[in-house]
Amino acid sequence: MQLDNLYQEVILDHYKHPEHKGLSPQKDVQVHHVNLSCGDEITLNLTLHGGRIADLSWEGIGCAISMASVSMMAGLLNGKTLDEAALIMDSFLSLMQSKGTQKGDEGVLEDAVAFAGVSKYPARIKCALLGWMAFKDAAMQVQGR
Ligand code: ZN
Repeated sequence: MQLDNLYQEVILDHYKHPEHKGLSPQKDVQVHHVNLSCGDEITLNLTLHGGRIADLSWEGIGCAISMASVSMMAGLLNGKTLDEAALIMDSFLSLMQSKGTQKGDEGVLEDAVAFAGVSKYPARIKCALLGWMAFKDAAMQVQGR
């Protein structure tokens, strides 16, 4: 896989210095998702307060793409409302489905536009989406209560 060097650096930086890693003791819901094709595993703890994501923390093992993606996601979504989070997730999903044709909206995705190049590699898209799919699951569970 060849990623733009700068983007690769952003991804490796999150991999080495992940944000919001380490599960918070309190949680409204916990989910565990695995990506069998790569062996990535992520556990997410989600706590809502007044419709906002009061706490989104995670633990996981896996490749740099999966770990960097969940790190950036947690940074983007903490403190947001579920509606805001859904818009950010839609933006990231659309980028991942773009097969390399989109650059991503930096105003919405910030550092996560670094994954634009990954959308050209179908085998790695699942890695990049693992944390986001786990969040989607957690958000649906917590709203269903
Ligand atoms: Zn992976």
